[in-house]
Amino acid sequence: MTPEEEEMAPQCAHCHCRILGHGVESADAVFCCAHCARQAGHAELADRA
Ligand SMILES: [Zn+2]
Repeated sequence: MTPEEEEMAPQCAHCHCRILGHGVESADAVFCCAHCARQAGHAELADRA
């Protein structure tokens, strides 16, 4: 991964870590994992297999 690619990576809306690979998306935000999604109030989201 180059610095440019890391800059392009989306950030988790809860913990602000870089999301590498697929994250967990809601209608208005993206999270690194279902834990963060739940912490941000998206209880309906779960990790995808
Ligand atoms: Zn997170």
